[in-house]
Amino acid sequence: MMKKQHGPAFRKQLIELAQCPACRGKAVIKGVFHEMECIQCNASGWVVAETGEALQLQDLVMQLSFKLQEAQRKVEALKRASTTGIGKHYELNNRLGAGGSNYTGD
Ligand SMILES: [Zn+2]
Repeated sequence: MMKKQHGPAFRKQLIELAQCPACRGKAVIKGVFHEMECIQCNASGWVVAETGEALQLQDLVMQLSFKLQEAQRKVEALKRASTTGIGKHYELNNRLGAGGSNYTGD
């Protein structure tokens, strides 16, 4: 029997993921004739860092979304840094405060 959770269901928390050792994060495994979905990671390329097991599909989608959002934020930050030509300056700017797009100079 499955235990039923009571109270406000589940907390949406970030689960630390690790690259799937079976497919090395590729989500597919090369078979003899074609590529097959990797079973170990639900064809996601990621497993739970702590247990090395695949996430439930539902959780997986959410965790991948978190990861993607994080990656996108980094890309955006890098883009902004390069378009304003402040590659090196970015680190400096970072020290002035998080989210500091209001660079006014003094
Ligand atoms: Zn895998």
